[in-house]
Amino acid sequence: MNQLIMKEIFAFKGQNEIEFHKKFGTKEACLQYLADRKWKNGFTCPSCGCTEEYFTSEPFHKRCKKCLHHASPMANTLFHKLKFGIEKAFLIIFKMSATTKSISAEQLAKTIGVNRKTALAFQHKVRLAMQSSEQYPMEGEVEVDEAFIGGQEESENRGRGAESKTQIVLAVEKTGLFGIKRVYARVIENGSTSELMTIFEKHISKTAKVLTDKWRGYLPIMNSYNIMQEKSQPKENFQTMHQCIQQLKSWIRGIHHHVSPEYLQAYLNEFCYRINRSIHKESIFDNLLNRMALASPCYLNNLKKNYWK
Ligand SMILES: [Zn+2]
Repeated sequence: MNQLIMKEIFAFKGQNEIEFHKKFGTKEACLQYLADRKWKNGFTCPSCGCTEEYFTSEPFHKRCKKCLHHASPMANTLFHKLKFGIEKAFLIIFKMSATTKSISAEQLAKTIGVNRKTALAFQHKVRLAMQSSEQYPMEGEVEVDEAFIGGQEESENRGRGAESKTQIVLAVEKTGLFGIKRVYARVIENGSTSELMTIFEKHISKTAKVLTDKWRGYLPIMNSYNIMQEKSQPKENFQTMHQCIQQLKSWIRGIHHHVSPEYLQAYLNEFCYRINRSIHKESIFDNLLNRMALASPCYLNNLKKNYWK
């Protein structure tokens, strides 16, 4: 039997913002919470790999016994080189996880008193932590379809404006008749088989029963996945999928107004993360904080299009 006794650590639960402010009103409370997660399996020196600690007078920090390397709770996590107070960072993470629709960079800038660019850069780091682990492919009934996001609104005068839109492919795992259990979405260059294949490889089990429309791009994928095709008819089929696409479009339009194609994948990650955890809302903040604490640091210059999985 394993004799290792794990330290019981406090985990914030729920969506109550007053409770959140009570708990995380000070820098110390936030650093403690982060340190508990970063070192929940003990300390390992990032410099020499030693696991023994030496005394340090700085609270929540660790010092390596062998090389005396000093490790702060924020170093080498997604909080690395944070440009504002950690209390503000915690509030951003709370708003992006525990609320239903999250918050725009503009609104955030006003709420926490930083400039829009700074708020947006940190939000992108949070979105990085929201990326799927790709460990749990979708099972059961799955619908796959493509959609166009952004660009000019469709209007009679301007035509469909599809040239300025970005194409995405979505997969929805159904529950009940029209319920959404999980959703994943990816930006694609076009509707070719190789582009469509990525969502299958990353997110769909080979035993899932997949439904697509009659688009021929899916035909070669039938060799390795269980796919049925049906002609898409409004209000007749693909209701769950269409409901999900509408939800995504109205979220982008309503909260973010405009999303550049370069960063669209980041927003898709965020949208899917919240839906996929809607039945675990109680622990969603803690889950995301854990991910932020255990992820490698990311520099803003790296947050380019191809960075997003
Ligand atoms: Zn060391």
